[in-house]
Amino acid sequence: MNAPTPAPLAVENAPLVDPFARAIRYLRVSVTDRCDFRCVYCMAEDMTFLPKAEVLSLEEPDRLCSTFIGLGVRKLRLTGGEPLVRRNVMSLVRALGRHLESGALEELTLTTNGSQLAKYAGELAATGVRRINVSIDTLDPEKFAAITRWGRLEQVLAGLDAADAAGLSVKINAVALKDVNIGELEAMVRWCGGRGYDMTVIEVMPMGDIGAQRVDQYYPLSMVRAELARAFTLEDSDYRTGGPARYVTVKETGRRLGFITPLTHNFCELCNRVRLTCTGTLFMCLGQEDAADLRAPLRAHADDAALTHAIRAAIARKPKGHDFIIDRRHAPRSVSRHMSVTGG
Ligand code: SAM
Ligand code: SF4
Repeated sequence: MNAPTPAPLAVENAPLVDPFARAIRYLRVSVTDRCDFRCVYCMAEDMTFLPKAEVLSLEEPDRLCSTFIGLGVRKLRLTGGEPLVRRNVMSLVRALGRHLESGALEELTLTTNGSQLAKYAGELAATGVRRINVSIDTLDPEKFAAITRWGRLEQVLAGLDAADAAGLSVKINAVALKDVNIGELEAMVRWCGGRGYDMTVIEVMPMGDIGAQRVDQYYPLSMVRAELARAFTLEDSDYRTGGPARYVTVKETGRRLGFITPLTHNFCELCNRVRLTCTGTLFMCLGQEDAADLRAPLRAHADDAALTHAIRAAIARKPKGHDFIIDRRHAPRSVSRHMSVTGG
């Protein structure tokens, strides 16, 4: 006797698994490509942003995220550009909060430059956000202004105070920048320890034309780690957040320290994520150009069947990994879009 055919609904709701047997549980959503900073490694000073007419309304990412959650996504991270400069962004955060309440979503988080945190930290916490990543590459106000071009450290520190007061757990992201902040990373690890924050150091990635040579910014984290290991006892940890960082525990501070090393150590084998832009384009890999348009199926039908089909077709093309290269011997192997399009 033949096995019974599964009910269509069960197939429609089957979890997303890519061709390399990686279950897709994590969606990063860039809610805007715009930003109130112009970090030298992320953007050119005279960036051209997407025309507003191409950007999804805030109801549309809500529907897209809800469809992904129906397909097994358990973790959402809002990013950008700067997510907190998108007008009325809290309406999206509040809407997504219903999936936390129902238990369908395990975690809703945010990556932010912190400039607007003083205004939003309380409401983020009230909506169910528990953890946020805040990007700070230096604790020197002048250097901060130079790296971000338009940012003020004081404003970000006020945002961190508000996040602490709201009970948000904070992780600091710092990009390792040759000849700029490498000598400060030890002090930043201590500062994070003092404030009760975990910290992640990130290798600069060759994404988008920033009007500077990547090779002049790039500093391998293998060297950062060796330098920090002289100052601290770094204990190996198998802690994973579902993200690409490899963590150690800093014995002296008791906090975790992560290393995101796309150049020196490819982290793709455990990749469980895909990335949605503010125009409804899905990137299956941060380091590849291939993408799928979800805006057309989203807008064409009031029900989610065509959208679900487009998502499954995209996941079936998720590549094995990226192949970034930055060194003086090779032409840089990079992607043309800026990090601010898909978020970090
Ligand atoms: N604006 C928010 C922020 O800065 O946290 C969210 C978006 S930003 C694109 C996300 C993360 O990507 C930040 O931690 C930023 O430092 C990092 N980033 C940006 N461009 C990068 C690059 N080319 N290589 C490595 N990290 C980068
Ligand atoms: Fe803006 Fe974040 Fe890019 Fe800096 S890293 S320019 S804060 S999007």
